[in-house]
Amino acid sequence: MPVRLWEFRNEPAADFSKPENVEAMLAALAVVRAEFGREYDLLIGGETFRTGDLLKSVNPSKPTETVGLHHKANATLAAKAVCVADDAFQPWARTPAAQRIELVQTAAGILRRRKFEFDAWLVFEAGKSWPEAEADTCEAIDFLDYYALQMKKWATPDPLAQLPGEHDELRYLPLGVGIIIPPWNFPLAILAGMAVAALVAGNTVVVKPSSDAPTVAAKFAEVLAEAGFPTGVYTLLVGNGSEVGDILVQHPRARFISFTGSREVGLRINELAAKPQKGQIWIKRVAAEMGGKDAIVVDDNCDLDAAVQAVLASAFGYQGQKCSACSRAIVVDGVYDAFLERLLPKVAAIQVGRADDPQYYMGPVISERSRQTILDYIRIGKTEGRLLAGGAAAPGEGYFIQPTVIADVDPKARIFQEEIFGPVLAVTRAHDFDHALELANDTEYGLTGAAFTNDPVKIEAAKDRFFVGNLYINRKCTGAMVGCHPFGGFNMSGTDSKAGGPDYLLQFLQAKSIGTKAV
Ligand code: NAP
Repeated sequence: MPVRLWEFRNEPAADFSKPENVEAMLAALAVVRAEFGREYDLLIGGETFRTGDLLKSVNPSKPTETVGLHHKANATLAAKAVCVADDAFQPWARTPAAQRIELVQTAAGILRRRKFEFDAWLVFEAGKSWPEAEADTCEAIDFLDYYALQMKKWATPDPLAQLPGEHDELRYLPLGVGIIIPPWNFPLAILAGMAVAALVAGNTVVVKPSSDAPTVAAKFAEVLAEAGFPTGVYTLLVGNGSEVGDILVQHPRARFISFTGSREVGLRINELAAKPQKGQIWIKRVAAEMGGKDAIVVDDNCDLDAAVQAVLASAFGYQGQKCSACSRAIVVDGVYDAFLERLLPKVAAIQVGRADDPQYYMGPVISERSRQTILDYIRIGKTEGRLLAGGAAAPGEGYFIQPTVIADVDPKARIFQEEIFGPVLAVTRAHDFDHALELANDTEYGLTGAAFTNDPVKIEAAKDRFFVGNLYINRKCTGAMVGCHPFGGFNMSGTDSKAGGPDYLLQFLQAKSIGTKAV
């Protein structure tokens, strides 16, 4: 039976307007809260390590609350984790693909059963609103289901053309040890997706989670253990990127690196991985998915209310902390003022507050450091354009920032060019649609973008010339769905690995061609 990836269906998100879901979520928040402050050991190859050097993960809505305390790895333990993964590689690579697939499906089932619990950890550790947390958990389930399905395809590849007198075949083999480095902003979905894609293909992994979201990572490690993944196949290595990152990336027994995060760190990893180390007998593969400076282009011939709604959701959903977030609205002259007139009351109506309280659309940003960076950009933005909304921290104990809109921003301005990763929207005027597309492309990034227009010719122009890995027409530029919107960017947004796409697993496989002469 051929694998029909297009028949894949996304995990339905829980509807929080239903009282039973609200009740379930409140119960999960209480259960998770009762676990606050727990200590998490390092587990490497079945051995427990308590280094005493603790990473404290706090609730960004209320930083006096400790979500979890994690024993951090040092250089020796980081190197050990790679060796353990290497030792586990051959048996895992030789485990039939069907068994690996089954383990991933079991893990997906566990995630599904513990969905609200995972939502609650995401609310408390990553500052996600309930619907944003639910979207993260659903996406993680989707990645597991989708990659399990996709592995069936690579385990039974299409036949080759046959040379007369021979049997010709192609087999897909795993690579070896993968170093998986996710960011904090989708601490479940991105971590699970990158790790499980590598695992189901037969590789073993060392996962270094973000220091801003280690507890979600620890909970996912529990899921894999519960599902029955063998010891050593998956090692969660909590530690500072700056302390253990280079050791992992440069280790001669590491075969590939799968990274999602900032441009700065991604480029560093790419450079370090390119240099062969003593004893290394391969070229390391690097998939690096990085930042964005995503734009929504608004034409004078479009549904303006829909455009306003899309900009609002894309710019301020999860406080603008998505790589796909709209940080530039590029609006054609004829509707520029009308666009702002309709946008501003909606921005003013956004409530900012604790992520666990569903009355707030926007929660905190991830950390004090992040808040300071964003506030610095707002200060710069005030000199580069006309501040129309927000412009400061929002009151409360958490790392809150007001949704901020700065208009009349010049394309050469820093807030037009640099990724801010917070709730800050730059609005820029374009003479016409073509000019708007030109401005949208005027950045070194190329991740997501959207164009609002009713004109079929302009729609085609956007499809042709808007240079981004993920383009949307007449809808928001966030919310890529696994299987439907393979995700990854152009230029400095990364290697365009297309997570959640039909070829994603190929990055974790190498093809072996075998021609057998008939005897
Ligand atoms: P980051 O600062 O680059 O960190 C990402 C990961 O790299 C973390 O686990 C971090 O660990 C680790 N790290 C830091 N220094 C390292 C080093 N020298 N060697 C190896 N690893 C190192 O990014 P972030 O703040 O977590 O995430 C936000 C960024 O991710 C934004 O730029 C956003 O656009 C991007 N992003 C891109 C995508 C995409 O698909 N293109 C998706 C989501 C996010 P520590 O936390 O311990 O430092």
